[in-house]
Amino acid sequence: MSEPISRRDALKKLALLAGAAVAVEGSRPARAADASLPHLKPSDPTAVALNYTDDAAKVDPKKFTTYVLGQKCDSCLQLQGPQGQPWRPCNLFPGMLVDVNGWCRFWVPKS
Ligand code: SF4
Repeated sequence: MSEPISRRDALKKLALLAGAAVAVEGSRPARAADASLPHLKPSDPTAVALNYTDDAAKVDPKKFTTYVLGQKCDSCLQLQGPQGQPWRPCNLFPGMLVDVNGWCRFWVPKS
């Protein structure tokens, strides 16, 4: 015979289940990018602050000394969404899509 569960125990179990659900959601592969999201413009104030450009080939390595030829959003750890899409989400610009050929000064190599 099982013992009755107190309201406190039930709430604890519910909280644990909710936490587990969040952990599972966070571990799923990236979903397709929402193509309806706006494309980040280099003139956007946040983009300007992070020195984002939608064409990494135009980055001046003398001005941005951390830039190395070949770096672009497509090879950045912060880029989200599936490969093959020209515009994808970036962790640094929530609610917008960045050009996979773009670059900003927070580029981080994929490990
Ligand atoms: Fe591109 Fe990475 Fe900068 Fe995001 S953080 S804009 S993916 S270089």
